[in-house]
Amino acid sequence: MELLSFKEKGIYCSVGDFFIDPWKPVKKALITHAHSDHARNGHEQYIAVRSSVPVMKYRLGSFINISGLEYAETLIINGVKVSFHPAGHVIGSAQIRVEYKGEVWVVSGDYKTEDDGISEAFEPVKCHSFVTESTFGLPSFRWKPQSEVYQEIHEWWIKNQKKDKVSIIGAYSLGKAQRLIHGLREYSDKILTHGAVGNINEILIKQGIDLPETKKADLTSKKDMLKGALIIAPPASLSSSWSKKFGDCEEAVVSGWMAIRGIRRRRSVERGFVLSDHADWDGLNEAIRLSGAENIYVTHGYTEIFSKWLNEGGYNARPVSTMYGENEEEDV
Ligand SMILES: [Zn+2]
Ligand SMILES: [Zn+2]
Repeated sequence: MELLSFKEKGIYCSVGDFFIDPWKPVKKALITHAHSDHARNGHEQYIAVRSSVPVMKYRLGSFINISGLEYAETLIINGVKVSFHPAGHVIGSAQIRVEYKGEVWVVSGDYKTEDDGISEAFEPVKCHSFVTESTFGLPSFRWKPQSEVYQEIHEWWIKNQKKDKVSIIGAYSLGKAQRLIHGLREYSDKILTHGAVGNINEILIKQGIDLPETKKADLTSKKDMLKGALIIAPPASLSSSWSKKFGDCEEAVVSGWMAIRGIRRRRSVERGFVLSDHADWDGLNEAIRLSGAENIYVTHGYTEIFSKWLNEGGYNARPVSTMYGENEEEDV
């Protein structure tokens, strides 16, 4: 029997009798990170990285039964050794390492290999079997260094300021938003946030994450505060009654999907900046190589194509179907 298997409720460890990121309610759930397609409602017990617990409670309810572990801290569950390791995806995101009788599996959740300076940086973990995502598992997805993207955003922002327009940028409220605030803080302090982003920021600042305080942008915001500001908001709030409150504004989206022409047009925003909290093609390949794993299980994204590519490279890879990556409002 394999140490981890793919069941109807999620990724299951039968020896330990626990699930990893299950999509249906279970007794014991180990959670890689707080995005809603991985951290779902209704489990009896949650185990996650300590730095993700406050956001997890905010999103799932303060009543949930959750315990937090430090990165690399070991927990034994029914004889199975379990530990969490940085995945570099968002603050508090983890790869979960599972070991039993010398056999090691790693479930990487969502990950990115570029260090964004605010999420705990990705660390390769050696294993025999590696469960990877493949959101951007095509060779055409290759990211520029983030500093170049921040410069592009800054230039766009300056251009809007000169036209006396407010800049509104669509970025997911957990992950991308904090990354942008961190990456753009050197340019200006005129960064404001939508309430959904502001709430997450407050939770993170309270737990000691090094984020500058950002004011929330709303109707009561003073005119001079809004003048020339950059507002970071969830993508769903673009071109909405909320964003129209700010009068003359320019809107943009920041996402890995902006690498595909046409998607931008369909979203009807003027600008798209290519920046993702997921690994690009090279990142995926590098993470797999560094894991040293022979067996690769490929979840959400280009699962078939990416598995085939890995097979040609000598890996024993296969696609597995999961319910990850199903929430538009999350983290690409
Ligand atoms: Zn995610
Ligand atoms: Zn995901």
